[in-house]
Amino acid sequence: MGKYILDEERLKSVEENYKRILESVKECAVKAGRSEIAVRLMCVTKTVEPPYINKALELGADLIGENRVQEYLGKKDELELNGVERHLIGHLQTNKVRQIIGEVDMIESVSSFKLAKEISRVSAAKGLITNCLAEVNIGMEESKSGLSPAELEETLYMISELPNIRIKGLMAIPPVCESEADERKYFAELRQSFIDIKDKKIDNIDMEILSMGMSGDYKAAIAEGSDIVRVGSAIFGARKYY
Ligand SMILES: *Cc1c(COP(=O)(O)O)cnc(C)c1O
Repeated sequence: MGKYILDEERLKSVEENYKRILESVKECAVKAGRSEIAVRLMCVTKTVEPPYINKALELGADLIGENRVQEYLGKKDELELNGVERHLIGHLQTNKVRQIIGEVDMIESVSSFKLAKEISRVSAAKGLITNCLAEVNIGMEESKSGLSPAELEETLYMISELPNIRIKGLMAIPPVCESEADERKYFAELRQSFIDIKDKKIDNIDMEILSMGMSGDYKAAIAEGSDIVRVGSAIFGARKYY
C-alpha cells in the first residue's frame, strides 16, 4: 500500500456510504415485498484504488464489479478477495477474453454472439465453464453495447449451443431518464424479457439473475425486481478518470 497517499477522509466516507447504501438496498427490497437479503449490492470498483476497495471488503462487501480487464488484472493482487465474488461488467473485446477467463466469477457484459463464442472457446481450452449474463441494450442507444431486445431471444438460442458458457440472466444500463417513472419503465421491460425467456426453458440458459440499477437509479431497479444493483460513485465518490 506504500504507493498510495491514503486519504483518511475518503476512507471514512467510503465506510459511511457503504453502510448507508447497504441499508437502503435492504429497505428497498423489503418495500418490494422481498427478503432483506434478496438484492445483492455490488461495489463497482473501476478507477478506485485498492485501499478504498479493501475498506468496503472489510465491511463485508462480497461482490465487486470491474470494467476493464487490464485495470482489474493490475490491481487484483492488492485486494483482499477471500470469499469475494468478482464480476466483469464493462465492454469486453474478443481479444481480451483469453486474459480474463478464470480470473472472474461472472462476465455480465456478453453483448454479441461472437463474444459468447470466444468466451466458450477459451473456457473450453482452460477446462472451465464460464457463467455470464447477456447484456441488453434496453434503450437501443447507439452509444451503448448490448444485444437489442429484438435479437435477444434468437441470440440466446444460438448461445445455448455453445458448450462452455452458461447464461445466468440479464444485465442492462438503461438510458438516462428524467423521472423515476421512466426509469421504472425500462427496468420493467427488462424484467418482462427475463420472464419471457425463463418461460421458454432454453438449454443452458437460466434466468436467475437480473442485474440492473446503479448509483442513480438502484431504487427504481429494486422496485422492478433487480437481483444485483451495481453501485460505484455513491460508495466510492465521483470517479477520476486517468
Ligand atoms: C460504472 C458502472 C456502474 C456504476 O455506476 P455508478 O453510477 O457509479 O454507480 C454500473 N454498471 C456498469 C456496467 C458500469 O460501467
